[in-house]
Amino acid sequence: MKSKLLSILESLRELDTQLIQCMRCGMCQAVCPVYQETGLETDVARGKLSLLDGLLREILKDPIKVKKRLERCLLCGSCQANCPSGVRAVEIFLRARTIVGLYLGIGPLERILLRGVISNPRIFNGFFKLFKIVSKLLFKEAHPSLGTSCSRIPLPVLKDRHIKFQTKPRETKRLRFNTTRPKGHTVAVFVGCVIDKIFPTIKDATLDILLYYGYDVFIPETQACCGIPALSSGDLKSFEALLNKNLEVFSEREFEFIVSSCPTCTWTIKEIWPMFSKNFTSFRDTDIQKLSNRAMDINQFLIANLDLNAIPYARNREDQIVTYHDPCHLRKSLKIWEEPRKLVRTCTNNRLIEMPFSDMCCGMGGTFNIKYYDMSSSIAKKKRDYFKATGANLLTTACPACMFQLHDIFSKNGDNIEILHTIELLSEAISCNGSTG
Ligand code: SF4
Ligand code: SF4
Repeated sequence: MKSKLLSILESLRELDTQLIQCMRCGMCQAVCPVYQETGLETDVARGKLSLLDGLLREILKDPIKVKKRLERCLLCGSCQANCPSGVRAVEIFLRARTIVGLYLGIGPLERILLRGVISNPRIFNGFFKLFKIVSKLLFKEAHPSLGTSCSRIPLPVLKDRHIKFQTKPRETKRLRFNTTRPKGHTVAVFVGCVIDKIFPTIKDATLDILLYYGYDVFIPETQACCGIPALSSGDLKSFEALLNKNLEVFSEREFEFIVSSCPTCTWTIKEIWPMFSKNFTSFRDTDIQKLSNRAMDINQFLIANLDLNAIPYARNREDQIVTYHDPCHLRKSLKIWEEPRKLVRTCTNNRLIEMPFSDMCCGMGGTFNIKYYDMSSSIAKKKRDYFKATGANLLTTACPACMFQLHDIFSKNGDNIEILHTIELLSEAISCNGSTG
């Protein structure tokens, strides 16, 4: 009890030093996707930061209200990227969620999912296999070419969702592993839950490309979730367990880089792990720092290390017009937008057309999509409108969570569109050209 109280007080003290930076200018209003939907000051960063100014008082008065207000946020970082005072709003919101989590405890369903399932990779895999079997009874095909499904019977929890389950293996052949190429660095791959469970083809493409270009690849079988779902639910205990598990499995081999095709995972490893690891005594800061210093987004890694002239373009896609959606954690948190575009331009022979507001959030936001599905969908609809304005029929992006959200909105509207990760496009370009790169 005493240590819980001390943790709350310590976190409140850290929060206070960050909150004074906000000068209440309101520039975050112009870019907040939730505020643009609701027009409520309580939903924008400035409103949330005012609430947090008196967090202890507010928590003692009505902790549920504080929790709910904090949950009405995509953690997209648009406010932070547009803030003239450099307020680290996403970090503040995450910290505030953990304070509320410490005070209120974790709800029973979140406890089962986070501590019972997600924190244990083997149980998580088994749970997902079981879910896939059950889902065959519950869902029917919705959009054959997008591979989505919708519920057979109306269920309030599912609403009118079109869900992407697991991607089928690619029709194009897997790349030949070029064993004659001299080996370069050893690269560890952080797969991430959404890629592992929903888009395994992105994992295949990432692995194929790294092997193709001569890297030694290390993918620990029992790597765990990066921990961001736990942290955004305020569950520091699960976050610590997941961090510990990942530290353990990634210490089994030496490697020069740890790359991920999920920007949320890369951002979490790079920025969130070192930020929050200070709360724990179960591991050393230096071990975390070693991993976070080596973390790179796959697009960034490939552009930094490959000769673009050696990358062919996907001849099978010559008729397609392509556009690109910027994932929030890649563009606003990691400041990476040139690299994925360079890959897309190269792979499509310069057929990339920019979409208006390509960096506008798609509305996914992890648990936000579950708790505020109607608002999440309404934000995604704007993204669809901007996509339509380009006349493109191929939408590329570099984030599996965005892909999940985009599949839903385009499928519900019966659109004739393909959605690919930049890495899938590159793997396809190399594969269909048989180039040696
Ligand atoms: S968070 Fe930044 S942009 Fe928003 S009101 Fe505060 S200082 Fe202004
Ligand atoms: S993180 Fe995104 S949704 Fe949350 S307050 Fe900032 S801009 Fe709005």
